[in-house]
Amino acid sequence: MSQNNIIYLDNAATTVVNSEVLEAYNKAKKLYFANPSSIHIPGQEANRLLEKARAQILSLLGVNDYDCIFTSGATEANNLAIKGYCLKHSNRGKHIITTNIEHPSVLEAFKQLEETFGFEVTYLPVNKNGVVEIDSLKSCLRKDTILVSVMAVNNEIGSINNIHEISLLLKNYPTTVFHVDVTQGIGKIKLPYSDIDMFSFSGHKIHGLNSSGALIKKHKIELLPLLSGGGQEYGIRSGTNDVALAVSLAKALRLEIEKIDENYAKVKVFAEFLLKYLSENKDLYEVNSGENPYIVNFSLLNKKASVLVEALSSNGVMVSSTSACHAKEEPISYVVKALGKSDQLAHNTVRVSFSHTNTLDDVKGLVTTLDRLIKELK
Ligand code: PMP
Repeated sequence: MSQNNIIYLDNAATTVVNSEVLEAYNKAKKLYFANPSSIHIPGQEANRLLEKARAQILSLLGVNDYDCIFTSGATEANNLAIKGYCLKHSNRGKHIITTNIEHPSVLEAFKQLEETFGFEVTYLPVNKNGVVEIDSLKSCLRKDTILVSVMAVNNEIGSINNIHEISLLLKNYPTTVFHVDVTQGIGKIKLPYSDIDMFSFSGHKIHGLNSSGALIKKHKIELLPLLSGGGQEYGIRSGTNDVALAVSLAKALRLEIEKIDENYAKVKVFAEFLLKYLSENKDLYEVNSGENPYIVNFSLLNKKASVLVEALSSNGVMVSSTSACHAKEEPISYVVKALGKSDQLAHNTVRVSFSHTNTLDDVKGLVTTLDRLIKELK
C-alpha cells in the first residue's frame, strides 16, 4: 500500500481500514444508532444487527456454539480472559502458565495476578525459533494449574505455536483452561479455533477499526466481569454496545478469511524478496524471524536500529523497531532476547510487517532505501 506517498510496512502495529468496512460502519452507525438494550423498535432492530454480527463472527471461525463477547480490542479481551477466569476460579488452584514472549497485555495481566492476587506463574521459555516446546509445557503442568495462555503468532518475530498440539496435551488436564491470543494470526494463518477454550483478537490488525475486538469462549467457561454495570455482553462486559463497531468487525473478519490463501501467497512473495536481500548481506543483518511471511524481523549487526528506523521513516518507509506498543520506553526486545540472542542483537531489531494491501514495489522500495541508508549511516 502506498498511501500518501509512503510505503507502509508496519501492519503488525495496525492496518489501514478497508473502505468496505468503513462504509459498513458508517451505514450501521447512521441507520442503527439506537441502544440495542432498548425495547422500542429501533432498539430491537439494532439488537438484531448486533446478534447477526456476533453469529457471523462465530460462524466464520467455525465455533458456532461459543460465546462472542465484544471488547475494545485484544488488550481488553486478554485481560478479561486471564483475570476474569483466574479471579473467578482461584478456589480451584492458583498456578497459571504463559510464555516469556507474550504481548504485554498478557504478560502484565499475569504479573498482576502474581503480585497482587497471590497466583504462582510459570513463564515458559521458547526455543531458538520462538516456539513453545510441548515437553517444556508438559513438565510444568500441575494438578492446581487452572490456566495456560500461549499466543498463536508472536507480534515481533511472527513465530507460530502449535496450538493443536498444545490443545491435545491439555485434553489430559480437564481442569486447565486454554487461552490463546490470536491477534497476529487471525485472518492470516489458519488456526484450530475449536481446539481452544478462549481466544482474543483486535479488529484494527485485520483492516477493521480501532477499539474493536472480541473474546470468544466456550459457553461453560465462567468469568468474573472486569466491568460491572448494566449487564450487557452476557453480564461479562457491561457498557452500551457499539452495534456499528460489531458490524465492522464481522465484515473485516469475513473479508480477510475469504481471501486467506490468496493473501498468504501474495505476502509470501514479499517476504521472500526481502529475505533474499538480507541473506545476501549477512555482514549487515541477522534474521530473527522464521516461516511466517507476514512478519520479517532482523537485527542490525553494526548499526543502531532506532536510528535506521527513523531514517527509513524520513525517507518515506515505515517499519518498526521492537514492537510499536513499547518502542518509546524500552528499546530492547525481550522477544529476541528470549531466542537466546545477545543484548546487542536484541537492542537493534527491525520489524517489517506485510499486508495483502502492499505491493512488490513497496518491498523493492524498502530494500533500495534500506541498502542505501545502512551504508550511509555512521
Ligand atoms: N496481542 C498481540 C499479539 C498484539 O500484537 C497486540 C497489538 N500489538 C495486542 C495483543 C493488543 O491489541 P490492541 O492494542 O488492539 O488491544
